[in-house]
This record gives sequence, C-alpha cells and structure tokens, in this order.
Amino acid sequence: MRTPTQITVIAIAAALLCLGSPSWAGSLTAADLKKSEDRALANVKSFSGYTLHGADHAYSVADHVVDSDGVQHIRLNRTFRDMRVLGGDLVVHNESSGNFRNASMSLARAINPARTATVSMGSAIKLAFNAYGGSTNNVAPELMVYARGDIPALAYDVRLFGQQADGTPMEMHVIVDASTGQILEAWNDIKTSALAGTGKSLYSGTVALTTDLVTGKLNLRDPGRGNMYTVNMNSLTTGVGAIFTVTGATTAANVFGTGATGLTAAAMQTVGVDAEYGTAVTWDYFKNVHARTGIANNGVGSYNQVHYGSKYANAFWSDTCFCMTFGDGDGTILGPLVSLDITAHEMTHGITARTANLTYSGESGGLNEATSDIFGTAVEYYAANTTDAGDYLIGEKVVKSGTNKFLRSMITPSIDGVSADCWYSTVGTLDVHFSSGVANHFFYLLSEGTKAGVPSKTCAAGNTRVASGTGTLTGITRAKAEKIWYRALTVYMTSSTNFAGARAATISAAKDLYGITSVEQAAVAAAWTAVGRP
Ligand SMILES: [Zn+2]
Repeated sequence: MRTPTQITVIAIAAALLCLGSPSWAGSLTAADLKKSEDRALANVKSFSGYTLHGADHAYSVADHVVDSDGVQHIRLNRTFRDMRVLGGDLVVHNESSGNFRNASMSLARAINPARTATVSMGSAIKLAFNAYGGSTNNVAPELMVYARGDIPALAYDVRLFGQQADGTPMEMHVIVDASTGQILEAWNDIKTSALAGTGKSLYSGTVALTTDLVTGKLNLRDPGRGNMYTVNMNSLTTGVGAIFTVTGATTAANVFGTGATGLTAAAMQTVGVDAEYGTAVTWDYFKNVHARTGIANNGVGSYNQVHYGSKYANAFWSDTCFCMTFGDGDGTILGPLVSLDITAHEMTHGITARTANLTYSGESGGLNEATSDIFGTAVEYYAANTTDAGDYLIGEKVVKSGTNKFLRSMITPSIDGVSADCWYSTVGTLDVHFSSGVANHFFYLLSEGTKAGVPSKTCAAGNTRVASGTGTLTGITRAKAEKIWYRALTVYMTSSTNFAGARAATISAAKDLYGITSVEQAAVAAAWTAVGRP
C-alpha cells in the first residue's frame, strides 16, 4: 500500500519540479500552483459525473503542467478507502481562470469493489507463483483496486522476483482478483525465458511443448502463449494444485511425462502434457485462424488442473478461475478426459463466455455446447497430429469400452440414442449436450455436405429427433464453416440466441465474409433447413 508519506513526497516533488521545468509557466509562484491544485481537487468533486468521484475517494497530485496561455493540466492519482486504484488516475484540465474544462481518464465505471477479500493472500501468492514462478522475496501482496478492466475490482498486486535463464532478473506484478482468484493482468519489463521442450502424452504421442525455466527448474508453463500452465491436483478437488516441474535446465532434461499414466512423478505428468499440449494447440488455432489471442483476446493464458478428484469422469471450464479442470475418468469406461478435442472443447467454453455468452440452458445451451464441439473438432484437424487425427467425433480417444467408442458424433448425433439430429419445437428441453446435436449436425453438413456411404441424413419436414430425409447438400469446406461460426459467435449471437437466431447469425456472418448473394450464404441457409430449422 502506498503510505501517506509517499504521497506527500510525490506532491512535494511535483511542486519542486514545476519551478524549473520549461513546460510550466514561469510566472506561477508556488502559492499559485497550490491554489491551482486545490482548485483541481475541488473540480474533481464538483464534476463527479465527469470524474466518477465518489465517497471514499482521495487524490494526490502527481504532475502539474501549465500552458503558455495559462491553461492548467493537473495529474492526479486516486485512492479508494486508502487503497491504490490502478487505472483510476486522471488529468484535470482547468482554464486559466481555474474553471473546469474537462478531464482525461480511462476509468469508465464508478468504483464499487467487494468490501473484503474472499481469496486469501496466501492463495493469491500461490496462483501468481503457479503462473509465473519466482519468489515473493517476502514482499506482501498489496490489496488495491484494479480499474483497468470493465468493472473495478478488489485485487492483490502480487510481486514476484526471480531469475531468467541468462541471469537477468524478473520483477513481476501479478494482479489477482481478490474475489475470484482470476489473474486479471500481469506484467514484467523483462520477459521470462521460453524453452523448447518435449512432452510424452497419453493420447497424442510425443509432442513439442514450450516450457519455462525458473531458478533451475523447468515448469510446464508456456511464456509464448500467455503463460498458460498446468497443475497437478493430485486427486484433490480443492486448493490450487502444484505446477508440474522437472529439475534441470538442459534440453535433455526438458521432457515431461512418460506416455502412460501411473503414480510415479514422471507418469503423473503424462496427463498434464495432454492438457498443456491441447490448450497450446487451441491457443495457436484461434490466433492463427481467427486472430484471437487467448480466451479473452488479451494475451493472458488460462491454466489446466489435471488429476482432479478420484475417478472424476468429466471436464469443465470455470469462468470464475479462468481455468479448465480435467478428471481421470473411472479407468474402465473412460480414461483421463484430456484428449485434444476435449481440451479444445473446454477452452472454447471460455471463449464463448467472453463473446456471445450463450446461456447454458435451453436452445442457447445447446448452441454453447455445439460451439465447443465445433471448435474442438476444428482444433483436432488443425493439430494434424497423426496419433490423434481429425474427425467429427468427440472424445474418441477417451472412451475405452461400449458400442460407440466416442462421446458424441457430429455426423449422426442421434447414434448415441439421446442426441438430436434435427430441430423440433421442444428440442430445448433436452440436456444441452444432446440438443447441441442440431448445430453439430448443421456444421457437419455445411462443411462436408451429404456423401455417399456416410450416414449423415437430412431431416424430413415435421421431423423428430432422428433424421430420416433424403435431401442432398454440397459442403463449402470445414475451413469456411469455421470462419462463419466464429464470426456469428463473436459478432451476432447474444446470450439468448436460439436455433432460429443461430440461423440468422450464421447467414449474416456468411454474407459478411463471402457476399450477400454468395454460394456460402445460400449453403448456410440450406444446411439449417436440412437440420429442420428453416
Ligand atoms: Zn461442454
């Protein structure tokens, strides 16, 4: 926390500087400057509609510039209940008379953060450490208000110090939300060192990884992709886990996992490799195909929790922690849920939450699930990994037994006995993982069309869940269908979009991308009609 002493020092320094600085009107005496600053502070309070001044706000003068015509620009740092407000600073512009002209600032909303921190200081340090490594050097995190995002939030500024591979120091500021534990922002003038490593995965063979060297240990953390990292929950469902590491700093040491699951430290890493690899490929896919840098498009990576719980047979995205969690499965029917398509599916939930934010129930919930299956499949193809080749199935690497060795099919969703191939008036009452079938089927037909020997039928008029039509369609390629879905998601869909809305959104997107009378927009309309949503 900035002490009152430091504030005084800044104010005095500014006042002293002004006497010799050429940008200041030489004619103003120290007393005049003080009067001008007092006037600025009064104006901040009088014009609170402009300045978002509120109760509990206080200010210190950081700089003071006077133009030759006497117009004054007084730079103020803001505190809220004695806490520093990052992004709360402003410059008050006063006429030579002292009357308020206007103010410059980035703060866009009134400051009303949580009263107290629900994330402990220790948890905040651990989250920051997992993401960036280093050590706190006994510097306690500062509780402050983070006002650089949409909504000002109570947060910790966790300081981390360490060394990069070549010995240059790192001095990180990691801003951790004091209510959710989410890392809101982090910066360091000196970047951490990214090293090329190798992972021996469970489902995707031997893969390239980017890892991070911090004080003699290699961490499963990717400085090239927003510092996304993977932690071992070690069968727990609480806590923040421990980042996977190997000891050493050489290429020979930079190998994570063994290619098989097990209880040794190295084998435990295997599942972590799949999660880190899957999210790295997903990062690259969205960056290179859709020009989106990270889930929130701000370059900040999320993190993966693996070995979550005991025999936990699911995986999920949480917007609260901005992270993905993966269970190990029961070991009989399901293995660890970390295949390429599932990791991409979960990370896409994060992107949906940051874009259309489709509500997770009813038809919008089906569209939310389908969006994750669509990009899960897109990423699987994009990876071009021969051990886990692209297909229109979800989870085929994870299912170990049963009639259908996959979780879902986009070709014929109803093959699982519960998913819908076709839209019908009550499809929104299905579980979102089953109503998603309508849009998954749409995406398949739009990409590939109907093909001889492939059991992807169109839907007959007035149909039910299972497709039984005989219509034919020509696909426009998966690459174009992905572009259309991404634009519809990010530009046209909103939280309550239903299948009719998705039809309209994708047609608009196709018109934007390929032209209003394009073959592509006609194909989008035809594919929706083919899945029973005319
Ligand atoms: Zn999902």
